[in-house]
Amino acid sequence: MSLKFTNTLSKKKEDFISINPNQVKIYCCGVTVYDLCHLGHARSYLNWDVLRRFLTWKGFEVKFVQNFTDIDDKIINRANKEGCSTDELSERNIDEFHKDMDTLSILRPTSMPRATKCLHQIINFIEELEQKKVAYSSNGDVYFSVDKHKNYGKLSGREIENQIDNAAGRLKKNQKESKKNSLDFALWKKSNSDEVSYSSPWGNGRPGWHIECSAMVKQELGESIDIHLGGSDLIFPHHENEIAQSEACNGKELAKYWLHNGMVNVGGEKMSKSLGNFTTIRSLLDKDISPMTLRFFVLQTNYRKPLDFTEEALKAASKGWERLNNCLSFGYIYKIKDQAKNEINIDKPIKRSFFNKLDEDSFKLLSDFEKYMDDDLNTSGALSILFELSQPIKKFISFLKEKDINEVDQEELNEVFNKWQLLSELAGVLGLKVNLNQEKPTNNTELDTNKIEELIKNRSLAKANKDFLLADKIRAELKNIGVDLIDKPKGVTEWKQLSD
Ligand SMILES: [Zn+2]
Repeated sequence: MSLKFTNTLSKKKEDFISINPNQVKIYCCGVTVYDLCHLGHARSYLNWDVLRRFLTWKGFEVKFVQNFTDIDDKIINRANKEGCSTDELSERNIDEFHKDMDTLSILRPTSMPRATKCLHQIINFIEELEQKKVAYSSNGDVYFSVDKHKNYGKLSGREIENQIDNAAGRLKKNQKESKKNSLDFALWKKSNSDEVSYSSPWGNGRPGWHIECSAMVKQELGESIDIHLGGSDLIFPHHENEIAQSEACNGKELAKYWLHNGMVNVGGEKMSKSLGNFTTIRSLLDKDISPMTLRFFVLQTNYRKPLDFTEEALKAASKGWERLNNCLSFGYIYKIKDQAKNEINIDKPIKRSFFNKLDEDSFKLLSDFEKYMDDDLNTSGALSILFELSQPIKKFISFLKEKDINEVDQEELNEVFNKWQLLSELAGVLGLKVNLNQEKPTNNTELDTNKIEELIKNRSLAKANKDFLLADKIRAELKNIGVDLIDKPKGVTEWKQLSD
């Protein structure tokens, strides 16, 4: 099977074919640096980190650009409130951003441009749009003319006429006077006299939000890129407007594939500041949640689906990760032969030659892992492969409790070691980093039997309805919490706890 992504542009799962062979150019919309990052950011950037690692593992050279929006209304308001400059506020929050992302083992992008450092490119870009007559200035503001761009709405599937009616009602009075069309959006905004501002051909002001991404993509990656990433809340208007600006200016398709991650729900409700269920990454990790537990938790759900965040689910993820971490620790703890030579660098995952030496079972698991990931990054499927792969290692660890490692047959040792290496490599593709200091978990005997029975019932129902995808998902979910299913004749399913 070939690599496939669900492309928001076509609303279909499509084969991925890069513009240049062996190279992938990715742009990801970054944060507005007025505050600490929250769970929504963690979810999004963890998913895209895995995308990047997987592409690297498959042999692509990946260029990954992600911006910082360091000037906008939120930043100006927050800086005023805190009595500091917008630069000071941005600088501080950029530092905090790096701390959070490093803690979660999210690889740093190839480059991270900032809006205030790209003003020259932004202004040039707007001037080009003016020359092409798709932008106009009005009282110190500059707007993009939406009706001059024939494909406006192609990403979000919105019809422009309906949008104009809706937007007209929301316009403020002064905007009504300066915009020709209610859907037109600002490329450059005139500043109030006391606000931070930058000089431009249209007077003092600052860039609109959408234009910075178009200008940065062009500057850092060129006119056309392979993949554009972001949260699904950015599809409209942000990404729609990026497409309009870039394609009107360059006359080329901005991005071939648009991937969007789902939102985070907390206790069944959308996470938002107004609902008071807003969790920062910092506060979550302070509560004894390990960064890898959070990563493991996020990867249990497909990136496009909403992610339901509950204490219970997090606890289950923590157990799942402990079990996996135990097996990942194995090679380090026992310092088995050649281990130093084969030091695993999870930040540069590569398919290695030793994979040719794998036994049939392991080879099948390796290829199943890739199949899952090729299928629009099915990370929960990929995790279930890690658990299968860890079974023989687990058994071997118990076996070593009774025997000295020097008494073990060399061939058997090599075999387990190869499996451990494969496990470590594949965990690395998901960015799951072994934690050697984690305490040995106590016996995980407190499984919730009612919940397991219920999930088994749901799986039988799914099978009866021929929804095999759901049935497989439930099996994988159970495996993640340490439960193995045995299908017996007449539709009876038994379960057993996977041995520790
Ligand atoms: Zn953007």
